[in-house]
This record gives sequence, C-alpha cells and structure tokens, in this order.
Amino acid sequence: MRFFLIFSFCCFTVLSQRQYFDHKFLTIRTSLENEKVLKELAQKLDFHRFSSRLNGKNLILLKPHEIEKTKDLLKKNGTTFEIKDVGYIKYSGKGIDYLSTRGDFNISTYNDFDLQMESLDSLTQKYKRKVKKIVLGETFEKRPLVALKLGFESKNSKPSIFMNAGIHAREWITSSSILWLINELLSNESYKEFLKDLDIYIAPMWNPDGYQFSRTKERNWRKNRRFYEDPEDEEICVGIDLNRNYPFKWKHQKCSNENGSGPVGGSELETQALMKFLTKNKDQLKGYIDFHSFGEHILYPFAYKKHIYPTNVEELKLIGKKMQKAIATVRDTEYDLINIADGMYPAPGSTADYAKSIGIRYSYGFELVPDGKHGIDGFNVPDTEIEPTGREVLAALRVLFERIIRDDEKTSLNQKTRTSMHL
Ligand SMILES: [Zn+2]
Repeated sequence: MRFFLIFSFCCFTVLSQRQYFDHKFLTIRTSLENEKVLKELAQKLDFHRFSSRLNGKNLILLKPHEIEKTKDLLKKNGTTFEIKDVGYIKYSGKGIDYLSTRGDFNISTYNDFDLQMESLDSLTQKYKRKVKKIVLGETFEKRPLVALKLGFESKNSKPSIFMNAGIHAREWITSSSILWLINELLSNESYKEFLKDLDIYIAPMWNPDGYQFSRTKERNWRKNRRFYEDPEDEEICVGIDLNRNYPFKWKHQKCSNENGSGPVGGSELETQALMKFLTKNKDQLKGYIDFHSFGEHILYPFAYKKHIYPTNVEELKLIGKKMQKAIATVRDTEYDLINIADGMYPAPGSTADYAKSIGIRYSYGFELVPDGKHGIDGFNVPDTEIEPTGREVLAALRVLFERIIRDDEKTSLNQKTRTSMHL
C-alpha cells in the first residue's frame, strides 16, 4: 500500500507538469542587421539567452500564439532563424527524485522549498556562534522570505554584504549552489576570518512561490505567483517579474510579457521586503549580488538604459575582472564581464540597479552556468553542477569580501587619524 501511495504521488507530480509540445525554440545569430529587432523582441518574448555579440546565439521560447507572428516579423526583416520543436522539457540529474517532498535535505540535489528552509534551520542550530536566521517578509502564498546572517558577534560595527538567489523561479541552479556555498562558509574553518570582519547576509530563495510552481506545474515559470488586474491587459494577470519591479527607473511592462513589471514599481511583497532591509541597513551594506542563470556572466549596473553607468564603474569593472580570474581558477570556466544594458538588454526596475541607487558601493548580478553551449535547455542543469558552481561563486566572493574588508580597514584608519589630529 505504501509503495502504491508513493508511486501514485510521483506519477501525479510528473503528469501534472506542463508539457511544451506546442511551443517552439527559436535560435537567431546576432548580426548588425538584426540587432535592433532582437532588442525589440527581448522586451516581449521569453529569451532564454540573449547575445549582443556578433554571431552570438539567441535562444527564445515561443508560445503557440507567438510562433507565426514572430516568423513573419523576422522574414520581413530579412533575419535568418532556426525553429525547433520543444516537446517535453526533460529534467536532468536524478529524474523525478528531486520533485518529491519526501526524504531529507540533500545538498547535492534540487530540494523543494520546505526542505531548503529545514536545512537553514539545522545550520543555525549547528553553528550557533556563526549564523542567525532572519525572516524578512512573506510572499503572496504566505511562504517566508528568509535570509541567514553569517558572521561572529562583534562589538564594533562591521561592513556587510547582501546576496539573494532564486528571484527567477526556473533558475534552480542559483539557489542550490548558494545553499552549497552557505554550508561551505560555515563548515570550512578557512573562512573564519571573513566571518570575523564581515556580516554576510544570504537569502537562497527569494521567489519561493514561483519556485514551487516551477517544480510542480510549469518547469519554465519565471515570475512570482501574485494575481492582479493590469489596466493595460485585458485579463487577470498571474505573476510579476521580480527583477523588473523595483522603483528605480521602473517602467510599465504588460503582464502578458515575460518581463511584466507589475502595476507600479515596488508593488510586490518580495520587492518590498528586500527594499526595507536594504534601505534600513544601507550604511553598513557595501556589497549586493543578485544570482541568476544562465550565460556565465558577471554583470554590473546600470541595467535600465544603455551607456549609463554608476560613478564608480571603473572600480566595479576592476573588481569584476578579479572575480572573473578567480572563477577561472576553479575549472577554467570563462565568465564574461558585461554591463547589463549594453551586454544583454535594458532591464528597468532591476534589483542590482536599485541596490546601486541607494548607495551600495559594489552591486552586481551574476548569470551562472551553463554558457548555452551544452544543450539548448539551459535551466535544466544536472545536479552534479551544484557543487562546482558553488565553488566558482565562492572563489569570486573571496575577491569581493577581501575588497570590502580592506576598504573598511582604510576607512577606520582614516577616522582614527582624523580623531587623533583633533586631539
Ligand atoms: Zn534570471
């Protein structure tokens, strides 16, 4: 009987997953002639990969009603393209095992949200002196928005960094590799010095509603799961792109688009919770990173418009290059270092822009593995990639941690010198 129940549960989960037989994958190589039309399409269609490099590959998932319209537009523009069937998007790694909510948390696979949260609870129990759990808010479906604060207690005020993953539901590798990284930072004694000098806030899953939906109903889901009525759309909208919802240079984008940005900037509970935390702690916060997949890029702001950069852009590029080199030491992976709007496409209302706009010195986005060369479906990363991806991110973070700590030492030294001069 037990076997039967388990079997039924597994099969139900798989069969209720959305199938993609009626969708198509469109690939287009970037050229001087099609650059403009690609950027226009990127505002409307579901780009799995966007490349602004000449001859770079763009991969777009077309919904049934978009197929003919897009083909016509591209033909009119003289753009060559390839169209392929999608069929059922297969899971990599351990098949259906990781869709189950049964069993214990396993660091080497894609755990469901409840198991992720349980793992954070056990880490806070195990490493009491090094870590605290904080709940920053709640989602539309009443799931908690949780961050860990890694760092030893200190009498002096410490600089800090905030990082979040999983803001886009289908980008599973982000939260799993960040969970691996949290374990490593806590269990490996060689990171002790960082925890003495720095408070590291990490939120491994910032869109739990969307994530659970992508596990059980639609693997390709990107947004959150809030329902609302958009005046420009004729139907009730489900889901808002949380990386377009921040009230810095926010721009309305229809909810029927993959980048639907919500009725107004800052409308979403996830956005509000992050804004509240970042603004409250902005004096201490020196770094911010938003983890996405895929493409293998280190991204710096601004995202909202091309050719607009923060005043410390040279510094961001310099640290970015060092992070790039550090990543390559792990297993020769070559990340690009690009500005979000120039290298990809304008993304108004993004988290990295918002963090920068409130004065956080080092604000970045990361697009993790893969680079798009290993198969077309880049969100389904085999779970064997979780640990090496975590190692690569950690190598990059060491660079940023060291920089923030060094800046802080310099500032305190200057303050001390100034104080002694006044004496
Ligand atoms: Zn993303």
